[in-house]
Amino acid sequence: MAYQMLINGQSVDGVSTFDVINPATKSVITQAPQASVEQLDEAVAAARKAFPQWAALTHEERRAKILQLADAIEANADDLIETLTTEQGKPLKGFFDMGAGFEFGGTLAWIRGTAEYELSKKVLQEDENLRIEMHHKPLGVVGSITPWNYPLMISIWHIIPALLTGNTVVLKPSGMTPLTVLKLAQIAKDIFPAGVLNVLSSESKIGSAMSLHQGIDKIVFTGSTPTGKSVMKSASTNLKRLTLELGGNDAGIVLADADIEAIAPKIFATAFINNGQTCAALKRLYVHESVHDKLCDELVKLANSVKTGNGMDADSDFGPLQNESQFNLVKELAEDAKANGANFLCGGEVVDDSGYFYPITLVNNISDGVRLVDEEQFGPILPIIKFSDVEEVLERANSSEFGLGGSVWSTDIEKATQLAQRLECGSAWVNHHGAIQPNAPFGGIKQSGFGSEFGEVGLKEFTSIQTVHIHQK
Ligand code: NAD
Repeated sequence: MAYQMLINGQSVDGVSTFDVINPATKSVITQAPQASVEQLDEAVAAARKAFPQWAALTHEERRAKILQLADAIEANADDLIETLTTEQGKPLKGFFDMGAGFEFGGTLAWIRGTAEYELSKKVLQEDENLRIEMHHKPLGVVGSITPWNYPLMISIWHIIPALLTGNTVVLKPSGMTPLTVLKLAQIAKDIFPAGVLNVLSSESKIGSAMSLHQGIDKIVFTGSTPTGKSVMKSASTNLKRLTLELGGNDAGIVLADADIEAIAPKIFATAFINNGQTCAALKRLYVHESVHDKLCDELVKLANSVKTGNGMDADSDFGPLQNESQFNLVKELAEDAKANGANFLCGGEVVDDSGYFYPITLVNNISDGVRLVDEEQFGPILPIIKFSDVEEVLERANSSEFGLGGSVWSTDIEKATQLAQRLECGSAWVNHHGAIQPNAPFGGIKQSGFGSEFGEVGLKEFTSIQTVHIHQK
């Protein structure tokens, strides 16, 4: 099938095309349309034109359209899930059922969950002389730029709160994984009025043109920290509002009293979710010396029980890395760790190079100061670091430039909860990691970005406040 973009309610071709690669085979799946800057201008103009009418609808009317979108997406489940596996690499089902089906289920859960929220006006003062009301008003045109790790779900995280609060949207998925979102655009085409949702695909350039565009009022960006900084710089030209959901290097701290057998499967699942290509995956595991060896043994057992392979195969627990540069980064970090004396408990060697397959890899005898610990690996390789002193490990966990998530694992819930609150990050978990849901705000601090997604707080990100002072005479 020929993929098309969505501009002003019309399905349109790009000015050229670019190849989309299947990471499990390194072969070309198809060509995606390459948008031009002029097409971006058209999309922004369409979104601007559609804005007043969309914003003037009642919350219930917009909500109804959004719920209609969820139903239409659900009706295309098999096709969207297969497309996701083909372009992103994640297995259809995968380890712990956390593959493409999981992303698809999350997509529906977030649309329907977010649609439950409404920002109502608040009366701040009311007496015989004066009434002061506070209203949340939509910003106008929102530009959404998304990454390649959860192409469908993250697009939904951006566009649903934007649309629900009365904004119109120009969405640009990653050039690595545009196909599922282009299909989403065609599904949305018959639901929303022309111009309310526009979708452009691009191998390069359009993201930076969006950040600079004078007709866009806000950018919601999910991606790497360096790109986020570049978006922020360009956004200053017209003071665009920003939500930046950036990289992370989440620490997990396992205390001496943790129930190792109970937590090992959860640690494994949350470190390797989506093959480690998850912003809030557990990326540095600090383990108390008294339980270090036992936890390593349990994790190795789990690693030896899983299979990495083509995501279309029913028995694949993990798929390939999504792209060549991510694959090369993981290999580079592994080589650097080896050169620094790290011990590879399993994995660490590429055995099948027919796709970007890297095995599940566990590394110990490593510490802070080595790239694999200090940098975001965004892949299936977990450094395990021994510690003896809790205060010292907390300092090491917090010494990262990132501040997305963190976790503490212990049977003493009170103590673990207190420690978790001392982690410098936007989300902290006790006896879990990376678990997110539509009713709990999620976002980073430090170099992991700013602004929150999800729930009522997430809706506010797409609005400005207007205070109305009504004097009786
Ligand atoms: P990336 O920064 O390379 O790309 C993200 C998006 O930005 C893509 O759509 C890309 O085309 C676009 N882009 C590229 N250059 C641009 C520019 N100059 N201006 C504007 N847009 C531009 O990130 P990625 O490699 O796709 O994703 C991986 C990163 O995303 C990781 O660091 C990961 O931690 C992070 N991430 C964060 C979250 C979160 O919620 N905090 C969620 C998922 C991924």
